[in-house]
Amino acid sequence: MLKYLRREIRDLEAYEVKERDYVVKLDANEGVDWLDGLNRYPVDRSDALRDKLARQLGKTPGELVFGNGSSELIELVFKAYLEAGETVVSFSPTFSMYRIFTLIHKGRYLEMPLKDMVSLDVEAFIAFANENRAKVVLISNPNNPTGTILSPEAIEKIVREVDAMVVIDEAYIEFSDQPLTDKTRDYPNAVVLRTFSKAYGLAGIRLGYMIAHEEVIGYINRVRSPYNLNVLTQGVGLKALESVAIARENIQMIKEERERMAKVLRDKGFDPLPSQANFLFFQAKKGLYRYLADQGVLIRGFGGDLEGYYRLTIGTPKENDIVINAIEEAQNERSQDR
Ligand code: PMP
Repeated sequence: MLKYLRREIRDLEAYEVKERDYVVKLDANEGVDWLDGLNRYPVDRSDALRDKLARQLGKTPGELVFGNGSSELIELVFKAYLEAGETVVSFSPTFSMYRIFTLIHKGRYLEMPLKDMVSLDVEAFIAFANENRAKVVLISNPNNPTGTILSPEAIEKIVREVDAMVVIDEAYIEFSDQPLTDKTRDYPNAVVLRTFSKAYGLAGIRLGYMIAHEEVIGYINRVRSPYNLNVLTQGVGLKALESVAIARENIQMIKEERERMAKVLRDKGFDPLPSQANFLFFQAKKGLYRYLADQGVLIRGFGGDLEGYYRLTIGTPKENDIVINAIEEAQNERSQDR
């Protein structure tokens, strides 16, 4: 939305790369081909990938832009919309990079705590954003690291009532029970981010995408570096979109494993939050974390306000069994200590 766009960006034009047929191509200072045609720059706007994804999502290509991971897209929102000293609002705990990206872009970062780490008081959050004159509101949905999710109604209310750009970061949405829908056509202050790093199992290629109103995508393209998506990523991304059945199967497996692991943890005396993502968030003694680490079983531990909380990514059934065994061993060791 123009209203929120940074002043410096208003008069910029997006860098356009025209794809043309050629006999010799000597217009881009490219080098000599020696490895699979990789001497050429990629197609700037990932046209083939974008067309295919647009068809799958029921969007126009103009409603999509890709990023080098959704991380890049968070930064592009700041580049387009956030002036130095302006405020970014989220809730806590949430994805720690939100604070870091905000500070890098010279913003002021404010978080409103979730109640009992779980629930968001939507009215209070809207008031918090508006009272602090937020320019950008970030919502991780489902939320990393708690795994909890806001309803589509709550999201829509926030988008409608805050006077800011609202980024709905759906990195984990495919693991939730909610359908993949968005209202970016109705609300030009809403931006949805998704990634191939989680449900598609392709964190290694760094591929994320933004869905937003065509006007917003146009502004994002003004601040995006040309050719931000490399040839290899575009190619693998296309292959992934042709293999949706594989992704679907993996998502189903992870969801089943998530429920199995949640039950195991509960049976062992832990209290994981109900999760709509591919991880579980729970409190434990430091000894457990250390024991697991010693066995080469890596889970995520947190510091600061989240000291004593852990996040376990759901793996394959085999990997999860190893985790279960290690937890059992840790508990047996501790009971022998007494
Ligand atoms: N958003 C959230 C909530 C995340 O947890 C992550 C990754 N941990 C990202 C964005 C970034 O994902 P990527 O850059 O790999 O797309």
